[in-house]
This record gives sequence, structure tokens and C-alpha cells, in this order.
Amino acid sequence: MIEAALDDEWSDGFMNVPPLCPQCHSTRIDTRGVARRYGGAIGAIVGTTGGVAAAVAGAEAGFLGGPLGVLLGAAAGMVIEGIVGGAAGCAAGARLGNSIDRNILHNRQCRDCGHVFSDRS
Ligand SMILES: [Zn+2]
Repeated sequence: MIEAALDDEWSDGFMNVPPLCPQCHSTRIDTRGVARRYGGAIGAIVGTTGGVAAAVAGAEAGFLGGPLGVLLGAAAGMVIEGIVGGAAGCAAGARLGNSIDRNILHNRQCRDCGHVFSDRS
């Protein structure tokens, strides 16, 4: 259900039209969302890595305040930037993956005959 909600959110109108299987004309079509899933995961990793870099920067800033400052700066940078960066990266990656799914990969699969096809085919 979460994926369906994301589809609605990111839909540009094109996906509101129920896809038809080009082979058997069934409307029972699954969205595979392969690239979007990987994109979200990769984006989250990249975003969190950016957060770690911010944590290092926070630790360096905290260095001025002594050992405790290093710990606090790193922890604050890691937690805040890691969460924000991870979430933003995940959203950006998922969005990118979503457009890859739609434009490049065969993103639809017919539940009746198993035929795999893309939205724009
Ligand atoms: Zn079919």
C-alpha cells in the first residue's frame, strides 16, 4: 500500500491511466518498480554517507571544545545529518529510480499472461 501511495504522489498524470497488457489486454497489471527500490536504497546510503561526512565536520568543529565537544559534535552531526541525508537521499533516489522504471525498464507485468512490458511501449 505504501508503494501505491508513492505512485500517486509522484504521478504526473500518466500513471493514472490503468495500463493494459499489450498481449492479452488484461487490466490486472503489476508495477515492478525495480529501479525505484534500488534507487531508494542507494539514495539512502549516499545520503547517510553525506551525513557521516557532516558528522566528521561536526567533530572537527567540536575539536575546539575539547574531547567532549568532539563527541557531541560528531554525534549531533551523525544523528541529524544522517537521518535528514538518508531520508532526502532515499526520496531522491526513489524518484530517480521511478523515472528509470517508467522510461527505460520494462516496469509492468501482466498478472494473467505474465507478459512484461514498459509504460511507454
Ligand atoms: Zn497479459
